[in-house]
Amino acid sequence: MIPKSHPRFVSLMTRELIIEGVKNGITSTQGLIAQGRGEAFDYLIGEKSTDGALAAEKIAAAELLLARRPVISVNGNAAALVPGELIRLGEIVNAPLEVNLFHRTQERVDKIIKHLHSLGAQNLYTKSDALITGIEHERAKVDSDGIFSADVVLVPLEDGDRCKALVDMGKTVIAIDLNPLSRTAQGATVTIVDNIIRAVPNISKFAGELKGLRKEELQEVVMGYDNKKTLSLAIDEVKTNLDSFFANRYISPQ
Ligand code: ATP
Ligand code: MG
Repeated sequence: MIPKSHPRFVSLMTRELIIEGVKNGITSTQGLIAQGRGEAFDYLIGEKSTDGALAAEKIAAAELLLARRPVISVNGNAAALVPGELIRLGEIVNAPLEVNLFHRTQERVDKIIKHLHSLGAQNLYTKSDALITGIEHERAKVDSDGIFSADVVLVPLEDGDRCKALVDMGKTVIAIDLNPLSRTAQGATVTIVDNIIRAVPNISKFAGELKGLRKEELQEVVMGYDNKKTLSLAIDEVKTNLDSFFANRYISPQ
């Protein structure tokens, strides 16, 4: 048991959830490595939702509410870390969930679907009868009514290749990725540089607030959004944190 008083309690508990996901056959072993990379970047952005992340989370909420066919993609890490929160977001913005794995096996897809159903998910795309254009083999499989025909897709922790392919298909791709330098972060339409455990509840909160707005008002919210600015704000945050680290704790690098 990790005591609540531990200064890194949240980070350690998140790790436990991912390990549990691997043990239950929901998360891939590669997912452990992805989580480690995420943790490193989370450390650098200060383990908080920065102003830039909050702004992108608000845009994401507005895009999901404006969408004709929004879909929330669920991978093995997301299913282990925030299954309930993803179901809740789907209900608020009327977006079905679709299990979409990079290291795809039908067994793991079925396990995640079962897991989501057991937590109350009602609206799930479960077919795998279409392929993402320009991507090869198993990882390209999607539901023809789901991600394949979606206009807006939320992809927590997507791979760079697939993110690009979805953008090339003309979709608005909202990525959650703690690494502002990854190809996913650079290629998505809206990049949320935040930990998925903070990002999803934040998007739900904004969606709840924006839900009453008319279409034109939502369009005003997203108008002029500049994803490059979001990314440079995240990189600036890392730089500032490193500068203060060096100033306060370490001898400056020469
Ligand atoms: P890309 O293919 O986009 O260049 P990558 O190959 O470096 O990225 P992947 O292994 O494909 O990375 O995906 C893992 C990504 O997910 C990493 O960029 C990591 O920062 C991010 N990530 C991992 N855990 C979390 C988390 N809990 N919240 C948000 N992002 C996370
Ligand atoms: Mg990758």
